Amino acid sequence: SKYVYLFEEGNASMKALLGGKGANLAEMTNIGLPVPPGLTITTDACRAYYDNNKSITPEIIEQIKESFRSIEEKTGKGFGDRENPLLVSVRSGAMFSMPGMMDTILNLGLNDQTVVAVGEKTGNMRFAYDSYRRFIQMFSDVVLEIPKYRFENVLEKAKDKNGYEYDTQLTVADLQELVEQFKAIVKKESGNDFPQDPNEQLLDSVNAVFRSWNNNRAIAYRNLYDIPHNLGTAVNVQSMVFGNMGDDSGTGVAFTRNPATGEKKLYGEFLMNAQGEDVVAGIRTPRSIEELKEIMPEVYQQFWDITTNLETHYKDMQDIEFTIEQGKLYMLQTRNGKRTINASLRVAVEMVEEGLLSKDEAVLRIDPRQLDQLLHPTFDEATMKMATPIATGLPASPGAATGKIYFNADDAVKAASAGEKVVLVRKETSPEDIEGMNVAQGILTSRGGMTSHAAVVARGMGKCCVAGCEMAKVDEELKIFAVGDLRLQEGDYISLDGSTGKVYKGSIKTVEPTLSGHFATLMGWADEKRRLGVRTNADTPRDAKTAISYGAEGIGLCRTEHMFFEEERIPVVREMILSDTVSKRKKALDKLMPMQKQDFKGLFTVMKGLPVTIRLLDPPLHEFLPTEEKDIVALANEMEMNVTELKEVIHSLHEFNPMLGHRGCRLAVTYPEIAQMQARAIIEAALEVEQEENTTIIPEIMIPLVGIKAELDYVKKIVVETVEEVMEEKGVKIDYLVGTMIEIPRATVIADQIAENADFFSFGTNDLTQMTFGFSRDDAGKFITEYRDKEVLVDDPFQSIDLEGVGKLVEMAVKLGKSVKPDLKMGICGEHGGDPKSIDFFNKVGLNYVSCSPFRVPIARLSAAQAVL
Ligand code: ADP
Ligand code: MG
Ligand code: MG
Repeated sequence: SKYVYLFEEGNASMKALLGGKGANLAEMTNIGLPVPPGLTITTDACRAYYDNNKSITPEIIEQIKESFRSIEEKTGKGFGDRENPLLVSVRSGAMFSMPGMMDTILNLGLNDQTVVAVGEKTGNMRFAYDSYRRFIQMFSDVVLEIPKYRFENVLEKAKDKNGYEYDTQLTVADLQELVEQFKAIVKKESGNDFPQDPNEQLLDSVNAVFRSWNNNRAIAYRNLYDIPHNLGTAVNVQSMVFGNMGDDSGTGVAFTRNPATGEKKLYGEFLMNAQGEDVVAGIRTPRSIEELKEIMPEVYQQFWDITTNLETHYKDMQDIEFTIEQGKLYMLQTRNGKRTINASLRVAVEMVEEGLLSKDEAVLRIDPRQLDQLLHPTFDEATMKMATPIATGLPASPGAATGKIYFNADDAVKAASAGEKVVLVRKETSPEDIEGMNVAQGILTSRGGMTSHAAVVARGMGKCCVAGCEMAKVDEELKIFAVGDLRLQEGDYISLDGSTGKVYKGSIKTVEPTLSGHFATLMGWADEKRRLGVRTNADTPRDAKTAISYGAEGIGLCRTEHMFFEEERIPVVREMILSDTVSKRKKALDKLMPMQKQDFKGLFTVMKGLPVTIRLLDPPLHEFLPTEEKDIVALANEMEMNVTELKEVIHSLHEFNPMLGHRGCRLAVTYPEIAQMQARAIIEAALEVEQEENTTIIPEIMIPLVGIKAELDYVKKIVVETVEEVMEEKGVKIDYLVGTMIEIPRATVIADQIAENADFFSFGTNDLTQMTFGFSRDDAGKFITEYRDKEVLVDDPFQSIDLEGVGKLVEMAVKLGKSVKPDLKMGICGEHGGDPKSIDFFNKVGLNYVSCSPFRVPIARLSAAQAVL
């Protein structure tokens, strides 16, 4: 089989085989862009490498050699040739871009002979030796795993000795001496001479790229982003072009639109006389791409044309890497650019306006999970006005962050798991910092540009980042952040504004964000498409308001018990629970009724006639009981009981397995007074709000945890009698619904029976998952992580619905329910109501709506549209 493809043999659709980088290099080659010739060794070859005891099979080696000859022909150069040597880069590239995970080797093919040839051929000995010493450094780091600093120390010493400030001041003689010193380091560290045979250099490098697929950083990154571990990486071998050949050469990166805001404007950075990753490494501060227009107007124009073409070709914002060699432009990479969610929305909407995308394509373009980031806080303006910035860096990733300073990832992770809000402060970040970045509120670096590692990764995570804050000194060892005379230490508070780049001392209040016009436009397009309704789970008018502002169309779940936990109410609730006679219990319930009614009035008022589903009391009663002596004593006084007696009652209510205990509709069966009180509060509230607000309200009363049809019959009868009684008293009639949750596996099996007496179903997928798997929701987290690591489970079934088991039960219940009542209204109100994959499923089985937490409403709206498209 074919393991090696020349760039002209591939195309953009072959990402699984050629990796993202290789597929796009192939595509660019085939649309006629100036790409240095090269080849891609496939991900199949990587898998073959692992199957073959981590060594490259002879068949693959043969194919590499074969294709290599074609590169030699195209460039007119020879690998290892002593007059006109071919130099190449070896670049990893998996199907999904994994920034910084596997390092690139440049200038491969140099040795003691070819370096002289390159120097003579180019008339630039300095350049030749500079390239050689870089090559030895990179090869040693990636292939021989000799730490970088061993070389950097020697380089620094050479500069110090000569009083140089920049690498560019090193002379030919200096560089030649460095090369000798570097080779000595290699000999000492690895026990072998630095390999002089280019073929050996090449195969060792390919080998190292394959090996690096399974290094710790790569594995951690894949875990973080849910990338399968068996994909493997491709390797690209590409003839070198040189951005470090003098002042008419350079290298840079650019985005076709601003990755932070989405603004349509070429956006990028470059460095003259530089190679490879100098731009992103933050060693010299790069120049803005606009300056290229002045330095090299023609190259700029050509570059501008190419970037425009690439965007039209890919119909997406591109992230591009390029090099200029002696005034000639080369394209080295393109890919769909990572961007903030605000940029995603703006780009998608504007591309529809520009005629590049259809509305449906635009809706499909946005990752619903990313919408979460939009809802992150910004600084409160009033508080901000009083704050004075202590430093300014680059606005690398928008958002606001406040937290305590930590100077390395480990400390940050520790502090965050102890519940602290953390800001990670580093000179610059590298892939080792990923976990620290992940737990941090924000990231601050003193070096690097808008395309530095910190900036790119933070934008991907939707996390606030200020990069390249050069006026600040960061001492990671002494754990000090200093600007002028001001010194901050580990644990001091700092605040970052990722949209302006400003850094503030102390903590600043944050506020909820407002949503952009592009958000509204795109969500409007999504709403036109979706079939599923989107409701919210809300217990308070405040949550309900938030949800409505995000587009919720009703409340799918109001948990009444949350109203019982309030400080002034809990003693009354306890009194109710611990009453030993019905009349005592009624007395307590009489006190609770007006409070409940007020709660419901608040909700009905905010919801302005939109549907509101209210669930009767659900949790095990023991959750409300006092545990502390002083509370017990106080309660005993209130109830005119003696303390020992009360303790006995509390003890008698103890349950060994409360989640499977006396809860849900079981409470209403044993204490009908509770259901009566709640039904009365709901109906009285609805009647009053209808009058006051002049709206029509159709309350939906929901009975939880039904597993037996007779349970539903029993509780529903109580509810209906109460409602009728209230309407009689008030002399007004309203429509209302009494439905049930479907959350006990038994209920899904007898859903046809249950449907006979239910006005609606609402799937409680949290409990349904818990009881179907027999996994305790509150304890399963610990082993589910391990289950996923060991691939016993692919997804956490509490986050994404288990299609095979729980999903099948849902599907069956839907069918059974509809067989009795074809128009039975059905929704879902578990965690899964805000999960894109689950929403796709709920759409398919024909539910009417999903209900999720307010902050997930936009995610649900978009996912519901994508489920249709
Ligand atoms: P990454 O995936 O980390 O971006 P790349 O493989 O893109 O790594 O390589 C990093 C940089 O090395 C490129 O942006 C480019 O500047 C330089 N580079 C890679 N291959 C070549 C080449 N053939 N000629 C010149 N520079 C190259
Ligand atoms: Mg890299
Ligand atoms: Mg790159």
